[in-house]
Amino acid sequence: MTLRVGVIGTGAIGREHVRRMTQVLKGAEVVAVTDVNAAQAREVVDAFKLQAVIYENGQELIRAQDVDAVMVTSWGATHEEFVLASIAAGKPVFCEKPLAVTAEGCKAIVEAESAFGKRLVQVGYMRRYDRGYRAVKEALVNGTIGEPLILNCAHRNVSVPDFYTRDMSIVDTFIHELDVHRWLLDDDYVSVQVVQPRKSRLAGSHLQDPLLVYMETAKGVRINGEIFVNCKYGYDIQCQVVGEMGIVSLPEPMSVTMRSEAKLSTGLLTDWKERFIEAYDIELQDWIDSTLRGEMNGPSAWDGYAAAIASDACLEARDSGAIVRISMPERPSFYRHPSEDKAASGIS
Ligand code: NAP
Repeated sequence: MTLRVGVIGTGAIGREHVRRMTQVLKGAEVVAVTDVNAAQAREVVDAFKLQAVIYENGQELIRAQDVDAVMVTSWGATHEEFVLASIAAGKPVFCEKPLAVTAEGCKAIVEAESAFGKRLVQVGYMRRYDRGYRAVKEALVNGTIGEPLILNCAHRNVSVPDFYTRDMSIVDTFIHELDVHRWLLDDDYVSVQVVQPRKSRLAGSHLQDPLLVYMETAKGVRINGEIFVNCKYGYDIQCQVVGEMGIVSLPEPMSVTMRSEAKLSTGLLTDWKERFIEAYDIELQDWIDSTLRGEMNGPSAWDGYAAAIASDACLEARDSGAIVRISMPERPSFYRHPSEDKAASGIS
């Protein structure tokens, strides 16, 4: 069976996902695309030799009879509208992060999906599919380092484009950490403080770069985070968990070690597409396979909502300079994984 996918937004990541569904993965065919820039949609159709209809807009694409599932890769501000329309049409939808640009928007999606009565939404938090993060998670679940106590992390980009706003370092960049740490620690956030160290002269004048984010979880784990989006030297994602009996760290991406000209050196990546290329492949293959089975297993609308609540609190903490409390509503049973229900009832 083939999953017939309609893609809304054929920019950087939309094009990448079309490439992987067309050239790398199995079980999906891109049958429809749309972009506010029609020429760009046409270019993607031609580049990947797609037999796809180019629609005027996302709403028409979602309504198309032959679109089984929707992929939303347009600008963040448009996600909420397209995810809600997909739920209304009863179609599975993969939405790139953020699920919506506000927690209120995510809540509306959670409510619509719960009312529909079946999970339809997966959010593009691909780090959960990265082998390195999975190995860290496995060590934590196995108890190899005991209970986690401290998590140190950094998200560093070489530079960011001119349109990158002050808020984007949190709502677009650190949002990945907000999701993946909650998943790694199996915990929720209770407070955040954002501290602004000396500003880099190499960052745009409208940006505060770097930023330090200090969070606390319900179980008392302290998270020390750094966001530095004009670090100049590479795309560098760091994560280290200090536990009662040891430390587990995210492995570095594979790279040869060079001995040359009296130096010992190792290359660093500069592009997010390369850093997580395998994770994106695994993520989308899992989405295709589970959607074809009539399931939805990946990061949920609830996870998108939780990340948005935390990112709203980070913005408030940055602007106020205060420690901001984060109160996460209780997760509805609708968003529990079947294995958790079995564990709760004692069934193995
Ligand atoms: P991008 O290159 O600007 O692409 C977005 C595309 O969507 C553009 O072609 C844009 O058209 C189009 N678009 C905007 N509004 C639309 C609408 N109403 N209907 C149809 N198309 C519309 O941005 P990107 O880097 O691909 O990012 C897209 C989304 O993916 C963002 O939410 C971003 O946060 C997310 N993302 C996630 C990851 C990840 O690691 N998971 C990585 C990168 C991006 P015009 O530019 O022509 O206006």
